[in-house]
Amino acid sequence: MKLAAAIGLFSGGLDSITACRVIMAQSIRVVALKFVTPFFDDRLLSREQEYRTEVREKYGIDVRIVDLSEGYIELLRNPGHGFGKNFNPCIDCKIFMLTRARRLMAQYGASFLFTGEVIGQRPMSQRRDTLRVIERESRCEDILLRPLCARLLKETRPEREGLVDRQRLYAFSGRGRRQQIELAGQFGITDYPSPAGGCILTDVNLGARIENFYQGRLRISSGGFDADDIRLLLVGRQFRLPGGQWFVLGRDEKENERLLELAGEGDAILYMRERPGPTGLLRMGRNSAGTGALANETIMQAAGLVVRYGRKVDGRVMPAEVSFTQRNVKKSFVAEPLGDDQFSGWQL
Ligand code: SF4
Repeated sequence: MKLAAAIGLFSGGLDSITACRVIMAQSIRVVALKFVTPFFDDRLLSREQEYRTEVREKYGIDVRIVDLSEGYIELLRNPGHGFGKNFNPCIDCKIFMLTRARRLMAQYGASFLFTGEVIGQRPMSQRRDTLRVIERESRCEDILLRPLCARLLKETRPEREGLVDRQRLYAFSGRGRRQQIELAGQFGITDYPSPAGGCILTDVNLGARIENFYQGRLRISSGGFDADDIRLLLVGRQFRLPGGQWFVLGRDEKENERLLELAGEGDAILYMRERPGPTGLLRMGRNSAGTGALANETIMQAAGLVVRYGRKVDGRVMPAEVSFTQRNVKKSFVAEPLGDDQFSGWQL
């Protein structure tokens, strides 16, 4: 007999793991969707197979990664339900994810959707009235089950139709995790990530940085920005040069490498030739194609920052030879370090 199937939203945290196992325990085939964007978990895109194997071996769950970047970047411009404490549009985010999950139901042969939400667990997005708004606006009414708190909510279609036994669902509520931990223990799961979120939109500093970016404080391109711009925004020290150009410096070897990975066509790369120090990336944006026209003043400002944060000589910041590459222009020159008072207003 072919098993019924369901799609679960999978954050990778305790609640979503437990919710998947509750549904799987009712002999339903579960496809867990792990949504990623540049704001959360998108490094998984480069190790999808490894991640899938990890989740299957640890929790017995079949997870798929779905990249939501495209529409999500747009969503942040003006989320209908506003933002939480920081730049996190949790209600619209959930509506967006559920809408995408609903559209994938036919592909996976799923009869319903489910999440690991628990009433009252989060102040904004998990209130009873908000749960209803989310299911209505994602057009998931009646096909969206919340196995961990279902018995506190109205019966849904999979329950009425007998696909899911309501008596084997739960009535958890509130912020505590004790009940989820006990339930996970019954499935033999004791090793799960701590609740600290992986969503940088909830981070005070990064959230503010992203908000600034959305407000257009950086000159990148009149054609808008994309996921790679957001990824760049999350690396290293960030500067807005006096002409509005966006400049980023790596803070260690790993970040220097990341900047080289993220460098796009037309971006300029700077580094000190003879002493260890940061790699600098001057983002030119898509509209810079073919211009190569960076003012010497801008180049010297960027080079001055590279030297300022480079290794000191006998405890002093000294001038250094800087290499500059942009498209087929390669040159090197001696740059003076900038004094801290010269760039105090440039840092983002
Ligand atoms: S914390 Fe981030 S990923 Fe989670 S619902 Fe809010 S915006 Fe979405």
